[in-house]
Amino acid sequence: MAMMNAQQYRDSLARRKPLKVYLDGKLLDDPLAHPYVRTSMNSVALTYELAQDAEHRQLMTARSALTGETINRFCHLHQSTEDLINKVRMQRLLGQRCGTCFQRCVGLDALNAVFATTFDMDRRLGTGYHARFRKFALAMEQNDWIVDGAMTDVKGDRGKRPSEQQDQDMYLRVVERRRDGVVIRGAKAHQTGAINSHMVLVMPTASLKPDEKDYAITCALPADADGITYVYGRQSCDERKLGGGEASDMDAGSSTYGGQEALMIFDDVFVPEDMIFMNGETEFAGTLVDLFASYHRQSYGGCKVGNGDVAIGAAASIAEYNGVAKASHIKDKIVEMNHLNETLFACGIACSANGAKLPAGNFFVDALLANVCKQNVTRLPYEIARLLQDIAGGLMVTLPSGKDWLNPATRELLQKYLAGAAGTSTYERVRMLRLIENLTMGRAAVAYLTESMHGAGSPQAQRVLISRLAKVEEKKVYAKSLALNNSVETVEAAIRTGLQKVRAPKKADAAVPVTA
Ligand code: SF4
Ligand code: FE
Repeated sequence: MAMMNAQQYRDSLARRKPLKVYLDGKLLDDPLAHPYVRTSMNSVALTYELAQDAEHRQLMTARSALTGETINRFCHLHQSTEDLINKVRMQRLLGQRCGTCFQRCVGLDALNAVFATTFDMDRRLGTGYHARFRKFALAMEQNDWIVDGAMTDVKGDRGKRPSEQQDQDMYLRVVERRRDGVVIRGAKAHQTGAINSHMVLVMPTASLKPDEKDYAITCALPADADGITYVYGRQSCDERKLGGGEASDMDAGSSTYGGQEALMIFDDVFVPEDMIFMNGETEFAGTLVDLFASYHRQSYGGCKVGNGDVAIGAAASIAEYNGVAKASHIKDKIVEMNHLNETLFACGIACSANGAKLPAGNFFVDALLANVCKQNVTRLPYEIARLLQDIAGGLMVTLPSGKDWLNPATRELLQKYLAGAAGTSTYERVRMLRLIENLTMGRAAVAYLTESMHGAGSPQAQRVLISRLAKVEEKKVYAKSLALNNSVETVEAAIRTGLQKVRAPKKADAAVPVTA
């Protein structure tokens, strides 16, 4: 079975061994039944549901590079720039449908990054990781797995390297090497969709030095492996989902879908040899991180644009309920929101269209443009959210609760005094305001705003990459050649010689891995 439907996905999670999940101070008996988990699972299930949908099947599926079968695009090794573009379009679609994080992209980005890195490692070091990883990739697409890409270590003292930490477990590491595998210990933070996953793909979090071999570990293991503990991340206003019924549905803003983040603790977990894809090759840790980060920075040019579409729709709707849809400044603000949102989409499409084939055979994004994309994502959704709050008005945060709406003593009063434009529904106005609150301050704001800031790396991480990839030395050649020469011939000659000089490989480049 190469593709599951939404129900088969839910059933497949229920078949896992019981996960050890703590939430609100309690060990959950049935994690999948908890309202936080259930709603987050609804978002992931959409990635299965729309793959079966006649209208969206083409975008949501791809032809496997390994078998030629039709598979879910979330399990696909990109085979062209068109595949990269379709990935972003698919992410926008899903972001529109759930208005939050649908959690599946991390595994897709990890799949493509590890596929390329293992190929390069084998070529340079003569290791045998790639064939092993191909088997994993095949199993991923054949089983239609959700794979949690586990990269971000908890990091302890940010001013110190992994090996300099007082507590050596601040970066996940190998604590024991056995003949048949390794034992790992540590914790991964902000694990998107971890509890909704079938498998976990562990990767190092940063470049490593030669003496940091224990931290250079990439491996896969089932989400229900012995020794893994999950501690569920609380999100703003999530308790509003706990009441059940109409009142809490109203207050939640959007009670159907949610995102999911967890702290994932690996307490001496055994990983068998055939699931290890890097073990001590420190010189490739940085390559893997850069590849993964660029793929995931591309992803944000899709999913956050879809969330932005919901924000724009909410702005236009609340303007109607408020009776100001025709005001010129409101129309202009909505134009501005669209301009900002489409700018992000343009970045997502551009870094995909400008992608190229890697030596491993799968396609990679234009890393500079992907980092520019994500850098914009750290800013523009905040401006879109500001405009949305501006249009919504202060009632968004002073609304009485759904219980007051349902209370016969206050219902009539609220119906009368919360009314908006003639001919519009007061109830719909109230629910739209709650959606806006949720998107800009509540549970969905985790996905739309904070994740836009810190997901796929905080803003400074993109600036480091932009500075590394921007070829400023070449730009200096253009400027100097124009400033210092007086004819077409001499300018051209100066550019040619100048570029040759700055592009000449430096000695240190010999150590740079193939795909860097
Ligand atoms: Fe996908 Fe966006 Fe969620 Fe990352 S933040 S997993 S790209 S939906
Ligand atoms: Fe993310």
